[in-house]
Amino acid sequence: MNRRSFLNTSAGILAMPSIAQMYQSLNEHLTKQQFNQHYDVIVLGVGSLGSATCYHLAKQGAKVLGLEQFDIPHEQGSHAGQSRIIRKAYFEHPDYVPLLDHAYKNWKELEKRTETQVYFPTGLLYLGRPDNLLLKGVHESANKYNIRVDSLSNAEMRKKYPQFKLPDDFENLIEPDAGFITPERAILLHAEQALRLGAHLKTKEKTLEFKPDAAGNMVVQTDKGTYTCQKLVITAGAWAGKLVPALAPKLKVTRQTLAWVQPKKWDDFELGKFPCWTIAVPGKESIFYGFPVLPAGKFEGPVGLKLGHHYQGLVSDPDHVDRNPGPEEEQNLVDFLQKFIPNGYQATHVVKTCLYTYSPDENFVLDFLPEFGNKVAIATGCSGHAFKFAAGIGEIMADLALKGKTEQPIGFLNIKRMM
Ligand SMILES: Cc1cc2nc3c(=O)[nH]c(=O)nc-3n(C[C@H](O)[C@H](O)[C@H](O)COP(=O)(O)OP(=O)(O)OC[C@H]3O[C@@H](n4cnc5c(N)ncnc54)[C@H](O)[C@@H]3O)c2cc1C
Repeated sequence: MNRRSFLNTSAGILAMPSIAQMYQSLNEHLTKQQFNQHYDVIVLGVGSLGSATCYHLAKQGAKVLGLEQFDIPHEQGSHAGQSRIIRKAYFEHPDYVPLLDHAYKNWKELEKRTETQVYFPTGLLYLGRPDNLLLKGVHESANKYNIRVDSLSNAEMRKKYPQFKLPDDFENLIEPDAGFITPERAILLHAEQALRLGAHLKTKEKTLEFKPDAAGNMVVQTDKGTYTCQKLVITAGAWAGKLVPALAPKLKVTRQTLAWVQPKKWDDFELGKFPCWTIAVPGKESIFYGFPVLPAGKFEGPVGLKLGHHYQGLVSDPDHVDRNPGPEEEQNLVDFLQKFIPNGYQATHVVKTCLYTYSPDENFVLDFLPEFGNKVAIATGCSGHAFKFAAGIGEIMADLALKGKTEQPIGFLNIKRMM
């Protein structure tokens, strides 16, 4: 494949191969594999975090098997939908910022290694009342870690971003270095790089259970075979509670709804003119967020102005998700747009669903499962905000598996909180 023919002019040096080409290339690699029965590490779930983990394990020279129940990537879990916001002034908690520095570094390394663009620095607006947790949290992280966040007066906001209709008592902040990552392309890159470095990946193979054997190995039973390994990493997203039943009562899987709509004037919302945005709506405990319109031909997936509502959706079983959201969920998004971005809505183009896996405090869990010593590491409880960390979490999970520790400050993401 001639990657140079997909040069992205905005980035200047990085390519944008189509998802179809990348998928085809990955599948050519997948068909050439010769599997073993024993591995250094087996990774259960090759999605956002699992693909990155396989890549970092293989990069460190481990013999790796990644097991994925569907295709790589797919639409049943938490990673589908064209774009994921990446930002550093982390309103959820400043302790995430060092992990974000690490993730940004690893995303850049992935882009450099593959000459392919996954990170699009559009800038990200944070809009809401100054006393809202979103705005307060952004200030806290930005101040503590010296992250550039600019303040816009109402007049500046109206001039620069006339697309928004905001109350006068809103504070308007923009983080210029924030933007979005393309999830499907990122997963395909991590998976393909893992394969190139000698990892084995099996798709359409569901892990049923795992347990230790008398020799000190872990035994993994799938619907197609049995494998053994020295260390296991669980990155099973919404299915983590099915593989680790002890965690199931603490993990809540919810169905989230997102929409791509047709704006009244496309030009006003195009990539390059319109940033990513988050709005804390007064009276609601949650935020709405969205992206610019991405040019068809360069970005696959639905065309339109994409937006979502970051809140706890319908609690669901990941194996039996009702993928048809009710009209009230679409209406929630339309009502929001008509109030805050009125020219953003002409008609609904596509409504899709995706899964969140909430931990009780909405922070991730990156740790060992205590009952197996340091044999089994798990990344779970992503609570709808982990994609931006995937490139960093992959290295963290590889270090936990191979070295038994990580240099990254993940103490606050310990599993004891869940016990
Ligand atoms: C609508 C929506 C919007 C979001 N927006 C953002 C955002 O803007 N920014 C951000 O940072 N994050 C965002 N997130 C969150 C982010 O996408 C998730 O936190 C992240 O994708 C979780 O990664 P994961 O690897 O845990 O799950 P997944 O990517 O779903 O991967 C888990 C994989 O494990 C596989 N698996 C599970 N069980 C088994 C089994 N038994 N055998 C074999 N394979 C198995 C699954 O099939 C799946 O492929 C959003 C999520 C959603 C749903």
